[in-house]
Amino acid sequence: VKSQGGGSIAALSPDDHGRLNRKALIEKRLMHALDRNNMQVLYQPQVDILTGRITGAEALVRWRDEEAGIVSPEELIPIAEETGLIHDIGLFVLESVCQQMKDWATRGINLHVSINSSVREFRDKDMASLIQEHLDQNNCRPDQLTVEITEKFALEAEAERSIIRQMMLLQQSGVTFALDDFGTGYASFRYMQLLPISELKIDKQFIQSLSQQEKMPKLVSGMIQFGKSMDFRVIAEGVETNEQFEVLRTLGCDVTQGYLSGHPVEAAELERWLKSAD
Ligand code: C2E
Ligand code: CA
Ligand code: CA
Ligand code: CA
Repeated sequence: VKSQGGGSIAALSPDDHGRLNRKALIEKRLMHALDRNNMQVLYQPQVDILTGRITGAEALVRWRDEEAGIVSPEELIPIAEETGLIHDIGLFVLESVCQQMKDWATRGINLHVSINSSVREFRDKDMASLIQEHLDQNNCRPDQLTVEITEKFALEAEAERSIIRQMMLLQQSGVTFALDDFGTGYASFRYMQLLPISELKIDKQFIQSLSQQEKMPKLVSGMIQFGKSMDFRVIAEGVETNEQFEVLRTLGCDVTQGYLSGHPVEAAELERWLKSAD
């Protein structure tokens, strides 16, 4: 049921009730979810635009709950951030990824993996130590890991010395940072001086309107040029068509990620893709 604009503002619409109930359900179920095994990490390939080879993968969390059904990250992450359960999810992803990299290494696969991080993880915990411990325990090289942060993360981290310090420590050990959803925030340029970022991920909204809007190629070109002038690795997100891929290649983008090269899949499936490309 969609609520109509202009209706009563005092009463909650059926839609609002639905949302609040759903949020309460997710919160409740999330507490239980983390001790059982119904969370999963999928991997989406990142492809070198010149060679077509898979150079890395982004780890994306998936949750299917018996009562709440499939909960998308878009719905899950904000609730988890609010309740603090983001720590458990972040730890689950970090553990899964490090174990996966260790497992891959036994079969000669040294894939680069990116994880997503919320500012709260860095604020409440010593993330630098946590990440380093997990890498160590699994004999992973720090330079195999990228931490993706959003502009929202950057905005909040700006005034917090302890967060910046943790990022610097990780960078010194070889971990890299990517600025996710680039172009959607307000003050991206400032963070690039302040934070140890070495990769830009151009948000999918720009990529997806590449072919539809006349000014888009210029805008995306400008983003890529900017990234290169800063010596950043530039990744395009949400690449779905050959046309978008070709434009990006012409514009000098380094890496693409999107449904065109592959949806997020289980680790074993990604491994098959890697093998079939050899
Ligand atoms: P994101 O980091 O920007 O991740 C990219 C999202 O775009 C993913 O959605 C991915 O499945 C989707 N995507 C990939 N290729 C395409 C494409 O070609 N077209 C379209 N339309 N979409 C594409 P997903 O997995 O639903 O994740 C949504 C967001 O949730 C992520 O956005 C990220 O901000 C957050 N997230 C996911 N996993 C984690 C996690 O483990 N921790 C944290 N803190 N956040 C996470
Ligand atoms: Ca991301
Ligand atoms: Ca993104
Ligand atoms: Ca996003």
